[in-house]
This record gives sequence, structure tokens and C-alpha cells, in this order.
Amino acid sequence: MEIILRNRKHRAFIVPLMLYSLHAFLFSMLITSIGESQMSSIPQHIKLVLENTEPLKWSRGNRLPLYLWPVMDVDTGDDAETESIIRQLDARGIGAISTWNPGRQEETLAKGMRVARIQKRLELPININANPCTYAFCNGNPRTAHISEDGVPFFDESFGKEHKMGCPFALDFRKPEMKKRVEDFVKAYKEANLEIDFIFADWEIDGPIEWNGAWDASKRCRRCRENIPEIDDFTAFQTALRRKRSELQREMLADIVKAYFPDALVGNYGVYPHDGYRYWYDYFERFVEGAPHKRDGNAKYRQWFDEFPMTGYTFAMPVVYTWDTIWNWYDFEKGDYRWFYNMLLVGSNAGENTPRQIPIITFVHWHTVETTGKDESIKQFSEEKYQELLWHLLLRGHDGFFVWCPREQTAVETRLVHQVYAESLQYREFLNAGEPITFDVPPQPGPVVSGLKLGDRLLLRRTDFDDTEVPVTLVVDGMKIEVLRVDGRCQVRKLW
Ligand SMILES: [Zn+2]
Repeated sequence: MEIILRNRKHRAFIVPLMLYSLHAFLFSMLITSIGESQMSSIPQHIKLVLENTEPLKWSRGNRLPLYLWPVMDVDTGDDAETESIIRQLDARGIGAISTWNPGRQEETLAKGMRVARIQKRLELPININANPCTYAFCNGNPRTAHISEDGVPFFDESFGKEHKMGCPFALDFRKPEMKKRVEDFVKAYKEANLEIDFIFADWEIDGPIEWNGAWDASKRCRRCRENIPEIDDFTAFQTALRRKRSELQREMLADIVKAYFPDALVGNYGVYPHDGYRYWYDYFERFVEGAPHKRDGNAKYRQWFDEFPMTGYTFAMPVVYTWDTIWNWYDFEKGDYRWFYNMLLVGSNAGENTPRQIPIITFVHWHTVETTGKDESIKQFSEEKYQELLWHLLLRGHDGFFVWCPREQTAVETRLVHQVYAESLQYREFLNAGEPITFDVPPQPGPVVSGLKLGDRLLLRRTDFDDTEVPVTLVVDGMKIEVLRVDGRCQVRKLW
């Protein structure tokens, strides 16, 4: 089953849930389902996860757990039962995440802390979804609006009528409230001596974003023009907006979390170091004429601002999804390579540009994400090559995966990623300390090689998109190595 993100039915649901992201929306559906299934000892969607995964053959050690969107808020109200769920998930390397919702603060804090106490006792990481705390700076308050030359307040509605996108330079007064939302939770954990290990947000359609009609709106705003004298230059506009967007994230989330838990991994969906370009579009983003970009087939890869260092985040969170738009960007006859090529570009960009000490926890997704409606000409990425892609990400410096999916896709999405995750743990030593040897993405279907170097040993993966059997030659540390075709498994060999 596939979701249609842009159909009428979905939009009708989205409107009353204004200011929430797509992920949060799907998540809210999940919450309802948890409530309904509380009568049985284990919620149905958790059962699905357990049924589609096996306990680990190789231990997780100090590797990050696997994160799954459906595995949130596992508290059933009965501590013994909750502990049993957490233990079964942990046997599979899967981390349980608790959601903080300031709209239901008392309840979500109590539930989250019950889970955290169990995690602490079992010496497992404490994982938090802080997303509901982050919506929204642009809450529709007239004070957040742009202001026209004639002094008339207005909003940018090009992200959907339900999103009253305001003026980037009128949002500072919202900071104390937004900070307090996160701080109330963080403080309570600190006082209870519950150390947070991982905390993420999925802050998307809110605050300054340069896409869609934003540039046009800012040009019509007196305040924006005062703040960005060179507003007609897109790069100047993008820089100003991303600086403000980074500042809001740092003050609202990263600074607060780190003040209480300096070692916590804190990050946001889609925020990661890169080479100055973004090779994918989010479901709500449209290209803006005049924006600097580079062409590749029908794709326009947009110039992107180096926001990561300004956010204060301590881990990178790239997004490697099967967006439907990817299909028509390229004309490779081997359809699988259209997906693989783009997703490897996105992944390699993050892998190559993220400092080694910053973990990369990547949002991944397999079912075609329909952002433009149903298109029968699009061929689903194969399971086999998707799993190959995940291997290549691991061998290009990615440290962990976060599977996003709506509930009906839980079984397949979980199985595909978990198999790779579980298998990869036999190479823990390489994954922990190995150096990627290449970030090359072949422009045409053929052999693709990735590898990690650890001392004098190499962990290699070669995936082929044609019938060639010839070895691929790579130069590592000045030495030529030949990588033979081996389908479906890794190769370990000596470098010299
Ligand atoms: Zn403005």
C-alpha cells in the first residue's frame, strides 16, 4: 500500500492539523492506533515490527540502535509489559523513542519518563522525539506577519493555506515560548537523573524557508527588504533566511538540550553538512526561478546554504527517500539505477562532507513517495537494490538509519532495513573506525563500489547494474586494487 501525499483526502485531514508536518500527521494517526490496541498486551504495530525482524546474530555493541518511525511511545501503562516490549526490541537492535508533546505535557512526560527509567535500568539509550515542541514559530499570530509597503500585514501561503508563513524577521518574540516547551521536558529528565542520548525533531514547514513563494513575499515586505539590502540576489536572500532558520533551531532545541545534556545527539530532519548543493526536494518544496542550481538530466540540484554548523546540532540527518519526482529526472533504461543514482548522490554528499566525529543518522524510505499524485509509469525501486543502497551508505560513512513510514508500510520497510542493519553488525569494527575509500557515483549504470579501510584491511561492496564481469580498479593509499564482481555480499581483503 502506498500513501498519496497530495491527494484530496490527505489534504482534508491535513487542514485541521495545521502547522504539523507530514510526518507528525502520520504519527498522530499512529497514536490513535496505539490507543485502540492497548487492550492486547503488545500494540499491533509493535507486533508487526517484532514479527518482521529477528533477534540480532551479531551484537550491537556501541553501534547506534536502529530507529523506526512506528516504534514510538511504547508505554502500555504496565511497566512489566513495557519492559518486555523494550527488551524484545533491544534484542533486535531497535531503539524505543518517546514523544514529547507540550499540548499533552503531563501525560507525555509521564509516559516518556516511565520508558526512560526502564531504558536506564537496562542500560539502553534514552531516545526522544521532540517534534511537537517545535511547531510553530509561525503560529498565525498577526505579529509574525510580513508587512507591505503600505503597512498591511500579510502571510505567505505558498506552502499551503494551513501554513501561515510569516516574516523571518518578526519571529524573535516567539523564542521564549518555543524554548520553554523543550526546556520544561529536558529539565524534568535532568531532575530525574535520566540522561538523554538521542533527541530529534522533524521541523519542516515553519520558520524561514526560501522556497515556493517566499522570495516573492519577502520582496514585497518592508521589514524583509530592510534586513536584506541585496534581496534581489537569491544567494543573499537564501543566506539571510538560512542564518535565521539556523538561529531559531539552535536556540529552540540544540542549545537547550546541550545545556542540560552536553553529550546528547541532537538533530533535525534534513539538516546535514553538504557540498553546497541539495540533490532532492522535500514534498512541500518547489524550485524557484532565478535560484542558482546545477542541471543533471531533468534534475535541478539547488544551491544550499551551509546551515549545519550554525544550528548547534551534534548529529547529521540526511534524507534518502524514493521521492516520485526522481523517476523522471533521469532516463536510465535500468529503472533501478534512477533511484539508486540519486539516493547515492544524496548519501555520498552527506558522507563526504560530514566530519568523522559527527554521527550521520539517515532518514530512509523505500515505497515510492507520491508527492505529485499517482503515476503508473513510475516503477517501484526493487527491494534488492534498495538494500544494496543501504550497504553503500554504511560504507560511505553513514552511522545509523531512521526508517520513516506510515503504519501500513511498517512490515516491509522494517524488514528491508533491519536485514541490512543486522547483517552489518558483523563488520562493526570497520563501521566504527574504518575510513570510506570512495564517494564516486557513476553517471551511468554499471558497477558501483564502496568501501571502508581499516589499517591494512578493506571492507568492500560492489553492486552491478549491467552484465559486466570485469574488475573495477580503485586507487587506495596510492595502491591500485581490483574489485571483483561479487553479488549480494561484502568482501573483506588485505590492502597489501
Ligand atoms: Zn518580511
